[in-house]
Amino acid sequence: MKIIDGKKISIEVLDEIKASVSHRVENNLKIPHLAAVLVGDDGPSQTYVNSKIKACNRVGFQSSLFKFDKSILENELINEIQKININNNIDGFIVQLPLPNEINQENILNEVSPYKDVDGFHPINYGKMALGIDTFLPATPAGIIELIQRCNIDLKSKKCLVIGRSQIVGRPISILLSQNKIFGNATVTVAHSKSDNLKQLCLESDVIISAIGIPEFIKGDMIKLGSTIIDVGISRVDDNSSEKGYKIVGDADFKSVSEKVDYITPVPGGVGPMTIAMLLKNTLKACSLND
Ligand code: NAP
Repeated sequence: MKIIDGKKISIEVLDEIKASVSHRVENNLKIPHLAAVLVGDDGPSQTYVNSKIKACNRVGFQSSLFKFDKSILENELINEIQKININNNIDGFIVQLPLPNEINQENILNEVSPYKDVDGFHPINYGKMALGIDTFLPATPAGIIELIQRCNIDLKSKKCLVIGRSQIVGRPISILLSQNKIFGNATVTVAHSKSDNLKQLCLESDVIISAIGIPEFIKGDMIKLGSTIIDVGISRVDDNSSEKGYKIVGDADFKSVSEKVDYITPVPGGVGPMTIAMLLKNTLKACSLND
């Protein structure tokens, strides 16, 4: 069994980005600038935004945080986004999700300039992604592809099961892995909560990409020997032995599946760290497109 070390690979990616920033500085080119829009005081959202800002500092990017009270109205938020769209100093920005229930998420994401949409969620970029046209790929699927490529895992003609069909993970990764690209050419099946015979689908698969968010759902007896598991799920479960009183686990029951897999991404330390690295890579790309 080989552990796909997302933490180590994400550091490699961040170091490459840092080297590109140094190169830009030497050549008097603009320093990439990533901004984040945060609405309300949701704890996990604040933590995610802080990690993104920390990663910007690490690679030498500029960063900005636009923080708004949860009472902000949808049209006021749209106004703020339009101001960021025309701010030439900012190359890319993200709107941290989820937004308060009163605000229509789709309306907001549609307002982000496609040129600054480093999350790849704008319909124009999402459409380009589906068509196989070069664009900003959503960060988590992009991170999965980067892991697969850097570990020299060839998916050509492999049976690949994606469990989950969310707009941010399951749907885009299923589209990407079926494309005729160097990282793709897999035979992809997408499963979701209405799928029957999930165990049978898993047993037939060479590669399983799981993004459902149910702790330790995939057990060793559900997978075939020599398969690969890319575990996107992140769940908190009670753990009295930990100081915090909880631990983070993935969708796969690591203990039982690790006895059968060839490759596996651990949780934490697998797909998670790659997501931020790929967001920064998209920001570097957005900045370079303006050179
Ligand atoms: P989501 O929007 O809640 O989607 C979950 C998907 O799982 C849905 O398509 C759902 O099916 C499917 N599902 C739920 N129960 C199932 C079951 N019993 N069998 C088969 N499919 C089932 O979640 P998400 O945003 O994609 O996130 C999924 C997980 O990945 C979460 O744990 C999240 O925290 C984690 N995540 C990690 C990263 C990272 O950087 N590592 C990034 C994003 C998300 P239906 O469509 O039928 O409801």
